[in-house]
Amino acid sequence: MIEVRELAKSFGDTSVLRGINLTLEQGQVLVLIGPSGSGKSTLLRCLNVLEIPTSGTITIGKVRLEFRPNSKPRKADVLAMRRQSGMVFQAYHLFPHFTALQNVMEGQITVRRRPKNEARTKALQLLAKVGLADRIDAYPHQLSGGQQQRVGIARAMSIDPELLLFDEPTSALDPELVREVLKVIRELAEEGRTMIIVTHEMKFAREVADRIILLDEGVIVEEGLPEQIFSQPREARTRQFLSLLM
Ligand code: ADP
Ligand code: MG
Repeated sequence: MIEVRELAKSFGDTSVLRGINLTLEQGQVLVLIGPSGSGKSTLLRCLNVLEIPTSGTITIGKVRLEFRPNSKPRKADVLAMRRQSGMVFQAYHLFPHFTALQNVMEGQITVRRRPKNEARTKALQLLAKVGLADRIDAYPHQLSGGQQQRVGIARAMSIDPELLLFDEPTSALDPELVREVLKVIRELAEEGRTMIIVTHEMKFAREVADRIILLDEGVIVEEGLPEQIFSQPREARTRQFLSLLM
């Protein structure tokens, strides 16, 4: 359902992703771990085509896109791929001058071309789902970090993407707010959403992941079931990374 083949991304001379291969079935949750600077965010941004990969192939659902060095993909192809995934950012990235409701309507109107009343109905449903039915008219600065991130999750879901991407969704949050965000993500996993999650919350990763991938220096070092990765990591680099977190 989701397939990444030989994905590479360089910034100038710096090679950040080097031949990433992965597949993910519908309804699976993949957790991506790895040291700072290993390329986790770049990988998610490539999947959402916020960055144009240097080379490789991405398939998400019915959309497949092949990238070649020095060759720009067509705008229409990029937009088609972008509609396949919804991204949740570490720093929320909500529109500050829009209410929670407007933030969750916007993508539906611009990306999905939904009529306003339909977008509004859907936004109300999603905000209720993330526990914000009573805060729909609040602006981001009137919301806690945890509430803002829940708006971010509702927004990511609003365009009905095949895949949800989470880039350290709780890293910017005070500890007491982390739980409310993880709870929402856990519920989405239980509903069978297909997700790729970058997180340093290892207890959460173990609970929610069908598979875990450790990325280091732009390559997949190890891939396995949560039990295997946490209890019997095969690679020295995995053991070293986990020992720093535990
Ligand atoms: P992670 O999310 O695992 O911490 P990133 O994907 O953010 O890692 O970054 C991986 C590497 O790519 C880092 O060395 C970073 O400096 C570099 N990098 C990321 N984005 C850019 C960019 N736009 N221009 C140049 N280098 C970048
Ligand atoms: Mg990152």
